Amino acid sequence: MPTWNPWHGCHKLSSGCQNCYVYRIDQKHNRDSSVVVKNQDFNLPIKRSKKGAYKIPEGETVYTCFSSDFFVEEADEWRKEAWNIIKQRMDLDFLIITKRIDRFWISLPDDWKNGYENVSIYVTCENQDRADYRLPIFQKLPIKHKGIICEPLLEKINLRPYLGEWVEEIICGGESGEEARVCKFDWVQEIRQQCMENNITFTFKQTGAKFIKDGKLYYIKREFQHKNAKKAGLDFTGRVDFKKKIKVEEKQISIW
Ligand code: SF4
Repeated sequence: MPTWNPWHGCHKLSSGCQNCYVYRIDQKHNRDSSVVVKNQDFNLPIKRSKKGAYKIPEGETVYTCFSSDFFVEEADEWRKEAWNIIKQRMDLDFLIITKRIDRFWISLPDDWKNGYENVSIYVTCENQDRADYRLPIFQKLPIKHKGIICEPLLEKINLRPYLGEWVEEIICGGESGEEARVCKFDWVQEIRQQCMENNITFTFKQTGAKFIKDGKLYYIKREFQHKNAKKAGLDFTGRVDFKKKIKVEEKQISIW
């Protein structure tokens, strides 16, 4: 499952950023996560092997900008170039997750129109406050494929005022890491219910490290967080069937 990180580093913006895994990993390597730098592999999607084939073969979903935020301020001058690379690989699907959807228009390519078919953008809504701010903006934007990520899910969230055909998928999950905050099974079920009411595909990606079910707090080791979420059997296929697409793998690092 290819990951393309055109730049690295970010600034903490909202509650969901508190235990950002980029900061956690960088800390181990004495790296300052708040300095945003363009990566050496900036051109990865258009790089070719010695035989001339693309290093990322056609048909892949490319997890884009997972060590930063695609719309972070420092990347404004690089983003047009990144969009241009994305445009050159219409045979790949680029999945972008952001907390900065309010910066979507900055450095957007002139030929974007209603969006590139090969770009899916997911907006993180970790709590009600951020859902109420980000979703009305997101809803109106010209993007071909839109999803919502409620991870780390920090409280019960009512997404109903915003849901409709424009949302293809909602993914939710708890928080991992030593400082993880709790996630409650009831909150996950509540979002699933909202998805079912709106025929939106729902994925319960991971429990997180501290999970409360039936009033009991469970401490769940990293290797079981995805498996336990799957075991709960909550995933629901709505009008867009992602089983036909490549899905987020269990071994993939936590999104946020
Ligand atoms: S990478 Fe994401 S979670 Fe981390 S600080 Fe940036 S916006 Fe927040």
